[in-house]
Amino acid sequence: MKFRVLGCYGGNVPQHGMTSFLVNGRVCLDAGWVSGALSLREQVKVKDVVISHSHLDHTCSLPFLIDNNFSAPGFELRIYAIPEVIASMKDHLFNNHTWPDFTSLPNDLTPVLKLVEVPLEKPFAVNGITLRAIKVSHLVPTTGFVVEDKSGAIAYSSDTGPTERFWKIVNKVENLKALIVETSFPNELQDLANVSGHLTPQTLGRELRKFRQDVPIYLYGAKPRHMAKIRKQVRALKRRRLSFLVQGKTYTF
Ligand SMILES: [Zn+2]
Repeated sequence: MKFRVLGCYGGNVPQHGMTSFLVNGRVCLDAGWVSGALSLREQVKVKDVVISHSHLDHTCSLPFLIDNNFSAPGFELRIYAIPEVIASMKDHLFNNHTWPDFTSLPNDLTPVLKLVEVPLEKPFAVNGITLRAIKVSHLVPTTGFVVEDKSGAIAYSSDTGPTERFWKIVNKVENLKALIVETSFPNELQDLANVSGHLTPQTLGRELRKFRQDVPIYLYGAKPRHMAKIRKQVRALKRRRLSFLVQGKTYTF
């Protein structure tokens, strides 16, 4: 599986506060930084976007991805998410106030945007990959995903504080190649992490005790302002095979 990091928050490009990944050159996993990271020629190939939750740092390039490619011949975009997330995007993003409702443009019969509800924990297929959505513990309804293709699987937590179900399911995934998990705040901001549904290095350490697979672990989501401190505190965990995703890099899993 080719896994390109379009945006990963802190990473090595601290000015970007967005989260987005491109799987096998075609399917986006979250969409905080798609139109900014990809050329027009690359954007038009993205027909499918899987969204973990409605927060802007995971969705804010969707309006521009559609707008940039609206008149390209045959362009259409399908957005996949659990029903609560789809409802939120209908109400708050594609609501004709924040942005046009592209689910009825250019007309109701052949809209350029389709919003597709996906079930929890049941596999669904998207353009050559299979995904499962698993509820995690964030401020708004949020799912992580197990993402699989012929070469193996990866697990992506999305934004979450301490959680249970995600680890139970991920521990049973066969041929798991990597885990991508968030760590947003330094230990000093534990209270803020608790109320906002995020991890710090110390709660990450506790969460990883629930994880039973021996695969590389990649972190995303560090708030740019706290990057240096978070890196130091993550190093102090002394956990093998644990590193930060690198923005712009393509990983092969
Ligand atoms: Zn969030």
